[in-house]
Amino acid sequence: MSCAEAGRIHTGDEVAQDLERTCDVCVVGSGAGGAVLAHALVERGLCVVMLEEGGYHTRREFDMREDHAFPRLYQDLGNRATDDLSLTMLQGRSVGGGTTVNWCVCYRTPPKVLALWRDVHGAEGLSEEALAPHWDWLEQRLHIAEWPIAAANRNNRLLWDGLGALGYERHSLKRNVQRCVNSGYCGMGCPVDAKQGMLVTLIPEAVERGLTVFANARVLRLETRGRRVEAVHAQLLDPETDRPTGRRLTVRARVTALCAGAINSPALLLRSGLDGGGRVGRRTFLHPGIVSAALFEEPVNAWYGAPMSVGSRQFAERGDDRLGYLMETPPVHPMLGAIALGGFGLAHQEAMEQLAHVQAALVITRDGVVEGDEGGTVALREGGRRLSIQYPLRAHHWEALRHAQVELARVQLAAGAREVRSLHARPVVVRRAEDLPLLERAPWEALRVKVFSAHQMGGCAMGGDPARSVVDSRLRYHGLDNLFVADGSVFPTSVGVNPQQSIFGLARWGAQHVAAAVGA
Ligand SMILES: Cc1cc2nc3c(=O)[nH]c(=O)nc-3n(C[C@H](O)[C@H](O)[C@H](O)COP(=O)(O)OP(=O)(O)OC[C@H]3O[C@@H](n4cnc5c(N)ncnc54)[C@H](O)[C@@H]3O)c2cc1C
Repeated sequence: MSCAEAGRIHTGDEVAQDLERTCDVCVVGSGAGGAVLAHALVERGLCVVMLEEGGYHTRREFDMREDHAFPRLYQDLGNRATDDLSLTMLQGRSVGGGTTVNWCVCYRTPPKVLALWRDVHGAEGLSEEALAPHWDWLEQRLHIAEWPIAAANRNNRLLWDGLGALGYERHSLKRNVQRCVNSGYCGMGCPVDAKQGMLVTLIPEAVERGLTVFANARVLRLETRGRRVEAVHAQLLDPETDRPTGRRLTVRARVTALCAGAINSPALLLRSGLDGGGRVGRRTFLHPGIVSAALFEEPVNAWYGAPMSVGSRQFAERGDDRLGYLMETPPVHPMLGAIALGGFGLAHQEAMEQLAHVQAALVITRDGVVEGDEGGTVALREGGRRLSIQYPLRAHHWEALRHAQVELARVQLAAGAREVRSLHARPVVVRRAEDLPLLERAPWEALRVKVFSAHQMGGCAMGGDPARSVVDSRLRYHGLDNLFVADGSVFPTSVGVNPQQSIFGLARWGAQHVAAAVGA
């Protein structure tokens, strides 16, 4: 089927009446998975309609203000968290999904992780060899290249120096940018379109080839009959208020591809009465991480410059019974800083007065690999509209986070920090290497220390055995013939590195299976 109309991006306010569309493939979600998949499908000449709950925001609106960006570009206005509030999450929500706001780091999936997914979880076909041509293509198209250490901002440079002083492994990270001006505002949407996210690369290119995108289109449920998805039902939202306009959009597609991301893809399946035998929403992984804040005499100005460009794999492998972690850096803008540094009243004021001198380092832990680690769960609250996200942090998580905090502080002190603070409700402050045991003795418990995630994975685990997974090795939902899932939710464990390139690769590889289901 070729599309009856030329490609376009429609916003919710442009739709004046209820609409119905037919197409080959309906793609739900426009982030790392959805955009790459849709692009690969229109390249094959298929008629594709993409539905995105978030708005269509572009460079013209990206004014580098956190108070504008978080409500517009993030899930739950930037306040997504687990039910017990012990783990807060940043997750994208606009055309381009997480790729519009992310910090640009790109890693290929480590071969060891692909082997684990194959050998333990029965996910066939996702080998390094099968993914390599897709990664090669993506690296070229998205200008993925190492960020030179000479261009690192001071925040990253200090991590580099500290790692070097201790003889720890260190490397500069790869980023998907072109003509980057090193502004540091990636998290608020790139104001100069340097970030090679889906918003400025594959989505416009696919639209030129006929892709139709409806922004502000929240998919409510998939209608199924027998072994098939018959229709995708969405409501249109007002771009200004995010409230329903009263208009409905129904897409009847030969195949539906769910790419709403971890957390939202499982939630949408559950709203559609598809619980995968109780496995949908299970095995949710978050790379739980902490941030360590160091104070330096000289200003660091950690809000300027490429936010994340230096990393260390020094503690990536810590044995089979312990979680490995990567060290990296987050940007320190005023709002994020104010939330992270915590404290009340005068203490908070003093912390904020020193913001220019704060260097921040973080870790991401690789969850889901220790024996018995089933991660968290996504479920629906009563009424179905709101989500319940649970993620019990267990002994092995706390062991890794405690270890990581000590090592981050060691690195920051080696780089010349005057003092290092943990993000405990009552921060632990260390000024010399001899004080590091104080960090070990701190309370490592839920709600006593801030734990973050910007990497959501799992919830629709991929695998060979229908009794243990939600989608098969071709990304097809077990039990339905024309429903696929192609986003971070299909990872059977966390990936252990920044996930976007793994999701890009998975979606481009998976396009062959989606296309085959429509006979292309
Ligand atoms: C602040 C931040 C920094 C990050 N930095 C990095 C980094 O440097 N490197 C890296 O590799 N990763 C990074 N990430 C993570 C990365 O962006 C995500 O892992 C990736 O975008 C996830 O891809 P996805 O396709 O699974 O989902 P998403 O990109 O989240 O896309 C899903 C889309 O589906 C839409 N959607 C959800 N529900 C519905 C519905 N019912 N109807 C219609 N649409 C729906 C959402 O609005 C969203 O736009 C970062 C993330 C954040 C938030």
